[in-house]
Amino acid sequence: MDNSFIRFDDVSKSFGALKVVEELNLDIGKGEFVSLLGPSGSGKTTILMMLAGFENPTSGAIWSDRKRIDKLPPHKRNMGVVFQNYALFPHMTVSENIAFPLKMRGTSRADTSERVKRALDMVQLGALAERRPSQLSGGQQQRVALARALIFEPEVVLMDEPLGALDKQLREQMQLDIRDLHKRLGLTVVFVTHDQTEALTMSDRIAVFNHGKIEQIGSPSEIYDHPSTRFVAEFIGETN
Ligand code: ADP
Repeated sequence: MDNSFIRFDDVSKSFGALKVVEELNLDIGKGEFVSLLGPSGSGKTTILMMLAGFENPTSGAIWSDRKRIDKLPPHKRNMGVVFQNYALFPHMTVSENIAFPLKMRGTSRADTSERVKRALDMVQLGALAERRPSQLSGGQQQRVALARALIFEPEVVLMDEPLGALDKQLREQMQLDIRDLHKRLGLTVVFVTHDQTEALTMSDRIAVFNHGKIEQIGSPSEIYDHPSTRFVAEFIGETN
């Protein structure tokens, strides 16, 4: 792919004798929304952790914007990360939670307040800046986590089952919000989910994983209408 922005080049990962990711080759374009879809234990989170810098590949290379990144520490990769357990600090306000990564890096007070304001605007949370997490709904809390991930204005955002803890209605609203944010900011998003419907409705492309390998990669309609293996057909056919 010519416009490859993120590239996994023959990446494998083992934990002891357990091979979790096997010779992964994957190109993601700038501004693309790509879901890693597969059953629990298929290696999706491990792939995201290697991209974020929290795990090292056993072999292979990872590239981003033509730079090799697999030896860089997480804070040198400028990728925003959102997890299912968004882990907000309960004793801090929304603003303080969002400002936390800036504080850790010694950002000036003026720059901090400017950045926090921009991040709050991005997720339309300005009115709730002084509340504490316990005074927010689950969806609002997830939005705070999103704002915190966007605080350094990354080009790439990695999300690991970010909506798994929300009820159906809220999940559908947040799916729309995340898609909207992706478009508005031109973000490259790598989104881990085991939810077929979620992957089909949100993604530009879906990589379907089975035991650490890509079974099929393609647009939602390609995956849905033309599953290339029995595994994909059965997995996509399962209803939630
Ligand atoms: P998924 O996100 O698709 O559920 P994971 O990447 O979390 O899959 O896990 C893939 C496999 O790797 C699982 O069998 C899991 O138990 C194992 N695994 C993940 N992290 C570790 C670790 N730090 N140490 C040992 N095994 C791990």
